[in-house]
Amino acid sequence: MSSPYAAPVQTLIDELGRLPGVGPKSAQRIAFYLLQVAPEDANRLARAVTEAKERITWCRRCFNISEGELCTFCLDERRDATLVCVVQDPRDIVAIERTREFRGRYHVLQGAISPIHGIGPEQLRIGELVRRITDEGVTEVILATNPDIEGDATAMYLAERLRPLGVRITRIASGLPVGGDLEYADEVTLGRALEGRREVDS
Ligand SMILES: [Zn+2]
Repeated sequence: MSSPYAAPVQTLIDELGRLPGVGPKSAQRIAFYLLQVAPEDANRLARAVTEAKERITWCRRCFNISEGELCTFCLDERRDATLVCVVQDPRDIVAIERTREFRGRYHVLQGAISPIHGIGPEQLRIGELVRRITDEGVTEVILATNPDIEGDATAMYLAERLRPLGVRITRIASGLPVGGDLEYADEVTLGRALEGRREVDS
């Protein structure tokens, strides 16, 4: 099937369409928007993408995004290195930082265990976490994976794997996933939801 657009326009639409949350219609709309703006505006976007890709890497200690070898949290000496909060994604760090409740360090797994998507523990930064606990004198690990089935399964796996290391292991309080059906919730999720039950504010 041949495209009604000139080849460079079709390429732009195809690339935009690969972005998360951008469907074919949005891809078309953004592409035509970019064709209409001043060249310097379009170039600024292109440059921002290139520069972010060139300058940002993974922190070699916690696997957060970082401009240098270590991220800002790992470089900050005032943060408690004995307390490590484990998250799935660098964006989760931003969410936790917003609470201003946490003064420890982080460890980014870069995903969660998901048999459906073929992601096992070996694809995550779990070996690195184990090494950190032994090498850096970590005394408490807070499991802050998502409160859904994959995040819970990952937390359960981590708890078992880390227990022999003799560190305190805690899990953020969580209920059932939003929109989750009690009938389909696994017993682990349901058990935790029951255990952590609270009075409902009327
Ligand atoms: Zn770091």
